[in-house]
Amino acid sequence: MSSKRTLQTVLMPVRGRNPFNINKVLKPRGRPHINSNICKGCGFCIEFCPIGVLEFSDTVNPWGYQYPRIKPGMEDACVNCGMCERVCPEFAIEVFEEPPIPYKVSWVE
Ligand code: SF4
Ligand code: SF4
Repeated sequence: MSSKRTLQTVLMPVRGRNPFNINKVLKPRGRPHINSNICKGCGFCIEFCPIGVLEFSDTVNPWGYQYPRIKPGMEDACVNCGMCERVCPEFAIEVFEEPPIPYKVSWVE
């Protein structure tokens, strides 16, 4: 082994490094389906969504509770984490996996 080999040359991958390209990163995607008829309007799903995808609708269900809906413009923002599904005490939400899409730079700024 040459004595001139430094730690940097040893650790460097054989094919070199490429700059990080955000356009090649795919974002997992989901779509929450909300059963508004059994929602009790607790708001847990809205509070615990890490992306802020959900908000209360303007209307109420047959029991008089405001139920969540996807915010306008956030239709592709859900990352399929399933948090809203897990925290709903009424089992009113089911999240379905959708094909991943490239990140929008505006999502990470
Ligand atoms: S699955 Fe996750 S990101 Fe999508 S709406 Fe539910 S809590 Fe938000
Ligand atoms: S967590 Fe369930 S019951 Fe509570 S607001 Fe969301 S959908 Fe309705």
